[in-house]
Amino acid sequence: LPHGLQPDAVTESICGYCATGCSLRVHLRAGEAVNLSADTNYPVNLGMACPKGWEALAPLRAADRATTPLLRGPDGELHSVSWDEALRTMVERFRGITERDSAEALAWLSTGQIPCEEMAFLGALAKFGMGMVHGDGNTRQCMATAATAYKQAFGFDAPPYTYADFEESDVLVLVGSNLCIAHPILWQRIMRNRRQPEIIVLDPRCTETAMAATRHLPLRPKSDLALLYGVARLLIENGWLDTGFIEKHTNGFEDFKAFLLAGPYALSEVNAASGLDEASILSLARSIGSGKRVSLWWTMGVNQSYEGTRTAQALINLALMTGNIGKPGTGPNSITGQCNAMGSRLFSNSTNLLGGHRFDREEDRAKISALLGIPESSIPTRDSWAYDRILEGAERGEIKGLWIVATNTAHSWCDQQRLRRVREGLDFLVVQDMYADTETARLADLVLPAAGWGEKDGTFINSERRIGRIRKVSRAPGQALADFHIFQLVAHYWGCGEPFSNWDSPETVFRMLTAVSRGQPCDISGISGYAMIESNGGIQWPLRESETGFSTERRLFADGKFFHPDGRARFLFDAPQAMPEPPDGDYPFILLTGRGTSSQWHTQTRTSKSPVLRKLYPENPYIEVHPSDADRLGLRAGESVIVESRRGQMSAAVHVTTTVPGGSVFVPMHYPAVNRLTLSSFDPHSRQPSYKACAVHLSRIRNA
Ligand code: SF4
Repeated sequence: LPHGLQPDAVTESICGYCATGCSLRVHLRAGEAVNLSADTNYPVNLGMACPKGWEALAPLRAADRATTPLLRGPDGELHSVSWDEALRTMVERFRGITERDSAEALAWLSTGQIPCEEMAFLGALAKFGMGMVHGDGNTRQCMATAATAYKQAFGFDAPPYTYADFEESDVLVLVGSNLCIAHPILWQRIMRNRRQPEIIVLDPRCTETAMAATRHLPLRPKSDLALLYGVARLLIENGWLDTGFIEKHTNGFEDFKAFLLAGPYALSEVNAASGLDEASILSLARSIGSGKRVSLWWTMGVNQSYEGTRTAQALINLALMTGNIGKPGTGPNSITGQCNAMGSRLFSNSTNLLGGHRFDREEDRAKISALLGIPESSIPTRDSWAYDRILEGAERGEIKGLWIVATNTAHSWCDQQRLRRVREGLDFLVVQDMYADTETARLADLVLPAAGWGEKDGTFINSERRIGRIRKVSRAPGQALADFHIFQLVAHYWGCGEPFSNWDSPETVFRMLTAVSRGQPCDISGISGYAMIESNGGIQWPLRESETGFSTERRLFADGKFFHPDGRARFLFDAPQAMPEPPDGDYPFILLTGRGTSSQWHTQTRTSKSPVLRKLYPENPYIEVHPSDADRLGLRAGESVIVESRRGQMSAAVHVTTTVPGGSVFVPMHYPAVNRLTLSSFDPHSRQPSYKACAVHLSRIRNA
């Protein structure tokens, strides 16, 4: 390193991108980060990091950071103002809405990217301090399905696994999960498996993961639920069941069995539905039914679907039928997306949840009131609307004030054209983010400049329930402040007084959360503070006060006891539904969207600031088209096409490839225009958008 960059200290912090939760060693000089490397001692990443992790400091140093509050003036432009003016204006406008309409006309939308302490602060401030009822996180777009599936099946949102399970399975089934690029370090964990495992990928696309697997089953788009039911029926027909486990630890198996035997799930019918040959389906069932240690993993291919919850539960059902849960190398395991989506799931207080407490129960409200020193009367008894309902409320003019924190709704939400109507329905939009140039911040009336990852302290919770420390390793630029500090200021300007004056540091709030969680399935009352997390390489929840020794890798349900009052897991199922917008003569292709690379993250808000990451990925949108479709339409590789759905259109360069099946096309989600095409269609249980299947048309761009 050049002399000025030689570090004089090193510290560790969990990466701020994906939910793998790698630890990075940050090299400091005079307290400022100058470089970083992967942490070799952390039990998650074992010395590895992906390109985003290696480039984690670049977004902090971007020249276009938001450095002062910006308020839209009478000329329609955003202008720098002081924090005092910004907060006075926010409070005045939001109070005006509250007085004219009601506090129900205010809402917030947040993220899975800020620490637990900030999420909890935002939820408590908005609900208990400012009187809001409605608020949700962008985790609705990625993890709501998994959370709902677990909650209904196990009695709590509880991914049961530990990452060591990747290394201890004999059979790993990955469904709708492109682990190689979405969670590359977790793929490396599979590569460390010395048991020579069978790795089976169920995905319509021949993804990087499908190519690297031992078997790829290219099922038809959205035939996964029928296929999984067919596999369940084969398990029954062939006696590949753990009947002891089913009888002792589950409810509803006989109903599920009757449903499978009465429905169209015979081998020939599932072959017709999925397009997979009968031998492959039977072989999949045999691998699951006769494997010693079988683990079933899923991500967005399942979650982002109009029937995602039941599909996730179909995977849970397979694990319950075969007793593959609570033991090394097993589990129905959802892999989370964002770095702190799990923290949001437990502590965000968005729709109704604070450490497992529900506000529709009086005893829970009383407990929260006593623990946080908040009058019980200020705890709303109603659940919040989910993300889609909040935006619909704004479209109808029922939500008038919206506070968006660290998320880029105008890029990432489906059926983007509707966002214009949302904006028109709002009287005042506040966006709190690191940059003022996101698609969402550009729509704001007020931008609050926020510190990013690396500029603040707190904790994240990763996919395997591991709570890890993040640290301030750099000063935020200009007048940008940590979200925690912004929430403190809003509480002050709103006049919340007690009890928010006690929320004086992230660690104080973390201790409150440990108290709030006591006695809940996510009980972390055994964690005394940040020092304990740091010295143990992170700690997986739960850790109760009474637990003395604990292992660094812990699974749930080793005793077969689930979180429903009777201690039993549930078999849950419904008949598969028709695709909401199937291809037809006008729109003949199924559009699949998803992650395109390990070097970009979601809406590229941060990753686009790294010249290194930008070089690793095409700047302009591309679309993957199967050669047979390209031939039929006369498309050449590299030429631009218009991709059009019933809602909007975009242009993209043609990439001719056999990785997509004929009749389907794929566009990465990192390009903003892709959500002009996607559909307002949601899983009915989780309200998660179905990003994976809508109908589109391709046409050549003709030169004049
Ligand atoms: Fe690890 Fe995910 Fe960060 Fe990459 S983005 S370094 S895989 S936590």
